[in-house]
Amino acid sequence: MTRRLLSIGCLAALAAFAQAPAGGLNPAVQAVVEGISEQRIAAIEQKLESFGTRNLLSSRDDPEHGIGAARRWIEQEMKSFSPRLDVRQECHLEKKNLRVTRDVQLCNVVAELKGAVHPERYLIVSGHYDSIVLVFKKDQPRVIDAEATAAVPVAPGVTDDASGVAAVMELARVMSTRQYEKSILFVAFAGEEQGLLGSRYMADQARQHGAQIEAVLNNDIIGSDVAGNGRKEDSSVRVYSDGPEDSGPRALARYAKEISERYVPSMRMNLVFRADRFGRGGDHTPFAEDGFAAVRLTSTEENYANQHTLHDTFANTSPSYTTRVARMNGAVLATLALAPKPPGVTRMTAGRATPMLTRGKSGYDAALQWTYDQPESDLAGFAIVMRDSTSPVWQKQIAVGNVREYVLPDVSIDDIVIGVKAVDLDGNESLVSAYAITPFRLVPR
Ligand SMILES: [Zn+2]
Repeated sequence: MTRRLLSIGCLAALAAFAQAPAGGLNPAVQAVVEGISEQRIAAIEQKLESFGTRNLLSSRDDPEHGIGAARRWIEQEMKSFSPRLDVRQECHLEKKNLRVTRDVQLCNVVAELKGAVHPERYLIVSGHYDSIVLVFKKDQPRVIDAEATAAVPVAPGVTDDASGVAAVMELARVMSTRQYEKSILFVAFAGEEQGLLGSRYMADQARQHGAQIEAVLNNDIIGSDVAGNGRKEDSSVRVYSDGPEDSGPRALARYAKEISERYVPSMRMNLVFRADRFGRGGDHTPFAEDGFAAVRLTSTEENYANQHTLHDTFANTSPSYTTRVARMNGAVLATLALAPKPPGVTRMTAGRATPMLTRGKSGYDAALQWTYDQPESDLAGFAIVMRDSTSPVWQKQIAVGNVREYVLPDVSIDDIVIGVKAVDLDGNESLVSAYAITPFRLVPR
């Protein structure tokens, strides 16, 4: 009977459960969630609006107006949070192109909280501090950047994306009161509106230097709880993750849903298995394209009439909604930052990564192996998770102890998806490493 418990039929019956059984709550994570202040998020949004415009091409030198003033304020503010934070501007020259009408110095603002156990492993939480207003002109074939035309440029950009930056800055303030196992980068990107320029630069640098970025949570448009047609939704957020199935972004999205809903039960995180909305992209895109686990969080409802216009103001945003989404970010970031690294589930065979999963001695079992070099001192062991191939979330979880192999008798490796995660003594869980099917090609490339 126990063998049958693991059968496909039973897994299908378990589909009624939204996800694997919830783990316990870690007080250190709860403290982050509870520390996020709506008042502070609202104040940051109002301050960012007060710069008038944060367009990439706006003034760099004016003390109160334009992107330069905004950037200096974000940097100084984050420096004031904690001596643990290493806050810096990371700048490069962006050459003139179709959307950037002159050479311009582009600066991301980065606050780094060094990890105590795995300082080389990074988590990134981000938003973009630049803003834009787009105008349509009859004689022009495409929308144009109002910054280039307006006598007094204004681009309030509060929902898009002072909301994301406010969440990032508030997370930096709350999380820098303690240390985590992994390093966290709190990032305000520039140049998003002209083509994801700041994030492209950072992602490409990270790839070239072989940086270990375990997760990127990009927050873009997280202040909107009413759509332009009046539809309201203030208790859910969308998380966009590019495939294929069991890609890094998908694994992160599943993790984010499970953990955020555990710590913020009033909110739902809706999985959208797509790179982004139609015709849109965000600062997660360059990271995902460079092979990192990067996802986008964005409100369920959007007001398209306000986006990229003079009406994207503080009066038209919801700081309480942004606060709830920031709390979800905090739960995911803190849990992941405290958690062990994920296990390895592939080995190199004839030059390609092959899953360490077989049908076992019987030919009808699921025989799993995984690797785990240099275990953390607080590692408790591993858990195996399973789901139907059509299920968006993990459905079943089995704690198997501190081992490196396990046999699930009478389980077909062909019909369900199986993964492994590491768990520490406090119950913090790593990302799941899934045994994915290696693409089969008749003609090797
Ligand atoms: Zn945006």
